[in-house]
Amino acid sequence: MSTDCKMMMSALCVAASVSAAMETRFTDDGQLVCIRVGEAVFATGGGNLWEAEFVKAASVAIAGEAGGKSPSLAEDGWGDGTTAQQQADNSKAGPAPEIVTVAAKDITSFERTETDEAIILIWRGIALGDEPDALDATITIAKNADGSQSWTLTFDNRTPAYLLLRTRFLRLNRVTRNGEGDALLPWSDYGATLYKKCSARPTPIWAHYLGYAPPVAAFFIGEDGLYYAAEDPEARQKCLIVRDEQCILFDSCPELGASGPGYAVTLAPLKGDWWEAARRYRAFALKQSWAAKGPIKDNPSYPRRICEIPLWINIHGHSDVASNVLTRAKKVFPEFTTGLHWHLWQQSGHDINYPEYFPAQPRVKETIDYCHSIGQEPMPYTNGRLWTTLTAGYLLAEPYAVRKIDGTRHVESYATKLNPTKPPLAVMCPGTAQWRRVVQTFTHRVLDELGATSIFIDQIAAAPARPCYDPTHGHPVGGGNWWRKGYAKILEPVLKEWHERGAFVTTEGAGEAYLDLVDGFLQVVERKPEDVPFWSAVYSGYTTYFCTPEHVEDDEQSFRYQQCREMLWGHPMGWFDPKILDRPDKCEILRALCAFRQANLDALAYGNLLDELRPVVPLETVPFSWRPRFNWRKDAAPVQGEAPAVIGNWWRTADGEVVLLAANLTDQERTLEYRVFGDAARSEISPHQTATLTLAPHELRRISSVQ
Ligand SMILES: [Zn+2]
Repeated sequence: MSTDCKMMMSALCVAASVSAAMETRFTDDGQLVCIRVGEAVFATGGGNLWEAEFVKAASVAIAGEAGGKSPSLAEDGWGDGTTAQQQADNSKAGPAPEIVTVAAKDITSFERTETDEAIILIWRGIALGDEPDALDATITIAKNADGSQSWTLTFDNRTPAYLLLRTRFLRLNRVTRNGEGDALLPWSDYGATLYKKCSARPTPIWAHYLGYAPPVAAFFIGEDGLYYAAEDPEARQKCLIVRDEQCILFDSCPELGASGPGYAVTLAPLKGDWWEAARRYRAFALKQSWAAKGPIKDNPSYPRRICEIPLWINIHGHSDVASNVLTRAKKVFPEFTTGLHWHLWQQSGHDINYPEYFPAQPRVKETIDYCHSIGQEPMPYTNGRLWTTLTAGYLLAEPYAVRKIDGTRHVESYATKLNPTKPPLAVMCPGTAQWRRVVQTFTHRVLDELGATSIFIDQIAAAPARPCYDPTHGHPVGGGNWWRKGYAKILEPVLKEWHERGAFVTTEGAGEAYLDLVDGFLQVVERKPEDVPFWSAVYSGYTTYFCTPEHVEDDEQSFRYQQCREMLWGHPMGWFDPKILDRPDKCEILRALCAFRQANLDALAYGNLLDELRPVVPLETVPFSWRPRFNWRKDAAPVQGEAPAVIGNWWRTADGEVVLLAANLTDQERTLEYRVFGDAARSEISPHQTATLTLAPHELRRISSVQ
């Protein structure tokens, strides 16, 4: 126990024993003192459990009148996208909405009660602007049978003059000290990163939901852990923020005028390491509506081609480039289907003229037909979220873009090598029937006119959901739970049509709430040594996470480690530059990895990722250095680290067998003693049972469990 916490507990605390495993302690004025799990003490920073923004209702109406004015082409112009975006914003913004922020730390009227079922914290008589005694705030901490707690925040707002706009809750400060504990923090694509002793992590972390990352974090001191998550069946808009010294909170946008964020924050004691956090979240996640179709192995509508293509190449090129690359790939990898992520099949450029993709470049249909004839899979690129504001079409589409509370539309721009002018792109509102028809039309044309058997619809499961304050769109104004419902209306008919033709639909990112709305999630963020396969530990067997981008200049050893690591997590490999076909050393590695994956689809495509290889004695390590994967970050320094000489993961196959899949990263024979995965149903590593494994140089091996 920390000295700070000992002092605070002796001087100030009222003990609130929730379970034998977890205790939550408060001061008499509502400050959280700490949370104890076993011998470990978390959240010793005191502070502010909640904060909220209320907006003056009359000021929202004024902004609404100012918004909605369509930009002219002269206003937006062509050229520098940032300037055009600023011009559009400035010309359309209404008066700034009047926002009042209230916070627990500023309220002196506090009550606390406790029963066997719950702890109730109430702050009374809160003023909003010039309205005295307008508001009470209540935190209810439900004590759950499994020892966890569900924290909810609600407001009793007695004035119609102010509407709840935003909440920041549940804020825990200094969950662990730097150098003291391990932190599992949300991150793009794989879902999380594990920072041992909280070292070398970026700060702050903004994990938008429904974007790339899960609404989950966990902290460990020794084997005692604290789980912090939003187990939210409605997939409401929120952002998990982590600041210095593990200050953590959810920033939420509910529906305008709601009584609170609308979901509980779950705190739970854990015993073990980050895998236990993933197992707890999996137990929640697989019961939710987005997982209702069940595992792939039991879902006849799921197009298995997506999870059985072992390799992907990425191009920005026209028909001749596409056909040449896939012809070469067939010569290099004759035994496998190679997928092609195909940008620039359309006349319009990349990140410009969206969503006006048609007409296609010349001979696209013929190229797709040819690639199919040689057993390859070209997948055209589209975007399911953006409309370039410089197009004439946007003059008509602008009313269906996401509207911010100040009346302007939500406009973004992206800087890449392909679009240095950063053209402005409006975020289209998935709650509108008009955007629904647009997406359904261009996806239908890719299927019907081009004969594609796969499509990539960019950004849907990657980019943040946005609150939208346009009252004409037909969804609740503000944030809340309607974003996913809007995309469900868009994508369910798309998926049905594509599946009927044996075709599949993919998107970018890993947003879990789209699990039943697409067939695969492209994962293309920068790789880090701290990555852990959180999403695969939760949803493996229910969808396909694919691709393992590399830098063309990475050396063979570094390439081998990255590709082995991610193949053993279940990923098909790729999103490679075609230059990789000129690297026989890397192609030889890929050929072996593809063959191994195809021989173990029962685990890697249709099974569940259970755990990692745990040697009894730490293994020798091998160095690796990964250059930035993406060309717009080529000046960034490579990440460097050490990997164990042998890596591996436990999987449960579709038939229920528990297997260890392992890779020797070195050119020497390796023998190791490892802990056998114990009773899989209890998710435990047996503390006593071990086995010995010898792998030849660079060998990949499947080992059946000895149980
Ligand atoms: Zn809207």
